[in-house]
Amino acid sequence: MKKFATEQEVLAVVKKVKDIGLGAQVDVGEEMTVVVVFGVNTGGIETGVFQVFPGVEQVVRIEKPYKLASRDFKVSDTIIDIGPVRIGGRELVIMAGPCSVESEKQIMECAQIAKACGAKVLRGGAFKPRTSPFSFQGLGIEGLKMLQKAKKETGLLIVTEVVSSETVRLVSEYADILQIGARNMQNYPLLDAVGKTQKPVLLKRGFCATLEELLMAADYILQYNPKPNVILCLRGIRTPVDANRFTFDICHLPKLRELTHLPIIADPSHPAKYSRYVPDLAYGAIAMGVDGLIVEIHPNPQNAQSDGLQSLKFGDFATMMEAIGRLAEVRGRIV
Ligand code: PEP
Ligand code: MN
Repeated sequence: MKKFATEQEVLAVVKKVKDIGLGAQVDVGEEMTVVVVFGVNTGGIETGVFQVFPGVEQVVRIEKPYKLASRDFKVSDTIIDIGPVRIGGRELVIMAGPCSVESEKQIMECAQIAKACGAKVLRGGAFKPRTSPFSFQGLGIEGLKMLQKAKKETGLLIVTEVVSSETVRLVSEYADILQIGARNMQNYPLLDAVGKTQKPVLLKRGFCATLEELLMAADYILQYNPKPNVILCLRGIRTPVDANRFTFDICHLPKLRELTHLPIIADPSHPAKYSRYVPDLAYGAIAMGVDGLIVEIHPNPQNAQSDGLQSLKFGDFATMMEAIGRLAEVRGRIV
């Protein structure tokens, strides 16, 4: 829209979009307002249909297959406010906790150390997407209740994974941020269901997914939300190199930043394989300019039900967090 287009002019365009059976989202920026039009076969519609409306500056076809996640739709960085925590702004947000919630004692101990070291969000899976059906699948609703208790004690926000459409409602009663795991990044009915909750979502990159596929997955969620609510997470991808569990895809951050306005965090635990590699991967990600980290910790990694090998012991986590505080400053961030 033109710089001084009126609200009525914007609304008239939105009405036209809807009248021809398409979806519209409006991004009100400081400089100008953008109306994004989406739907199937938009390529078949002439741009002049909108160009004739008063207040329209120009009609641009977005070549990219993703729209709402794109910088073409929203130029400025998105900041997601979740209670007292802002993701995507100056704050470097640390999320920490075990891979799986295993017991009340375990999650409470993790929550306390996470809080004491400056983390703002507690992670922990109650529903686990395990590669083998014979591996520990999580405590389910009992695990969610333990997370809730830990939140009550510490004030930390909760991020926890949702693995099926049927449990989206249940999990969203407990989670402040819904986590979509790498294995579910292209589970489109699940993305739809999560999008409809309008809760903040942590979307992890599938380990064979391109950046384009990641952003199209984000669009599935964003289409239900007038305000962007997706946090992207780089967590390692599959390559022929097996020095680690996954190859840390942090080198894709600058490109991803160019493509999208969404906040981007990194997971240094899942690519690492061994916990002793985690701190260096975390420092690298911070130096590259991520908006936050999600890290696995455990009071007793030898006995963990999942991902013990990569989980940091509390002492090592505390040491890492001190270094993170200093490193964050270099990037103009505060922990
Ligand atoms: C997890 O966070 O524990 C997890 C299963 O991660 P990912 O989906 O990235 O493998
Ligand atoms: Mn894990």
